[in-house]
Amino acid sequence: TGELTGLRALVTGGASGIGLATARLLAGRGASVAVLDLDPSGASAPLLGLKADVCDDASVREGVAEAARRLGGLDILVNNAGIGAQGTVEDNPDHQWQRVLDVNVLGMVRTSRAALPHLRNSSHAAIVNTCSIAATAGLPQRALYSASKGAVLSLTLAMAADHVREGIRVNCVNPGTADTPWVGRLLDAADDPEAERAALNARQPMGRLVSADEVAAAIVYLASPAAASVTGTALAVDGGMQGL
Ligand code: NAD
Repeated sequence: TGELTGLRALVTGGASGIGLATARLLAGRGASVAVLDLDPSGASAPLLGLKADVCDDASVREGVAEAARRLGGLDILVNNAGIGAQGTVEDNPDHQWQRVLDVNVLGMVRTSRAALPHLRNSSHAAIVNTCSIAATAGLPQRALYSASKGAVLSLTLAMAADHVREGIRVNCVNPGTADTPWVGRLLDAADDPEAERAALNARQPMGRLVSADEVAAAIVYLASPAAASVTGTALAVDGGMQGL
């Protein structure tokens, strides 16, 4: 048994990177955990892997209902599924904006809408959204991605206000550059991935990337009863990047 024993959690995008680290840590602390992912094959036992696309409302409703049925309810929702985009406003055509906003913002709206009726039945209800320091840092070449995460930050604050009196807490984490398969894919696309990784590490104030486990620890804290009075907060896990 652990501090989360008896709690039931759902993690979107939980088959890779930050989501997988979070799902495993939640399970390690005693929660029963379901994962919703386009490809749930990365989420092995004891995680309950369910296939769903956060861009498809029917698929989300089915996935959330199935998770709640198999786990016997829901206490924790981690809205983590997200995709990246690079470029200035001149680089991304409308269809790319619509795609990234659909996954990163509406994806969280759809899962939250489907999960709220279940969360209302919980006495420890919490939603944690994976945002990014891109929401506030003004990063170059990240207009679309930053706008999507800015929306996630505002959504988090608005939902915290809307649901506080129902006993549902809503917070987000703002990771800096985290060492996940996503960043691995970006590095692999470079001419010299090893040199690119060294340069990326050197740009970090701590000389290294944030680990997925470190971001997961912050998400699990915000989801846990230890954070019972914490709502409407953005917790940066960025190795000191925010202040630069
Ligand atoms: P990742 O690519 O390793 O994992 C993302 C997971 O989301 C994958 O399993 C993928 O299948 C799933 N997913 C993508 N689109 C989906 C959809 N439409 N429906 C269901 N599942 C879907 O990425 P990661 O680095 O772990 O990123 C997770 C979250 O962390 C994202 O929201 C991202 O914006 C955020 N984030 C990442 C970093 C970073 O540096 N890695 C920094 C800040 C924020």
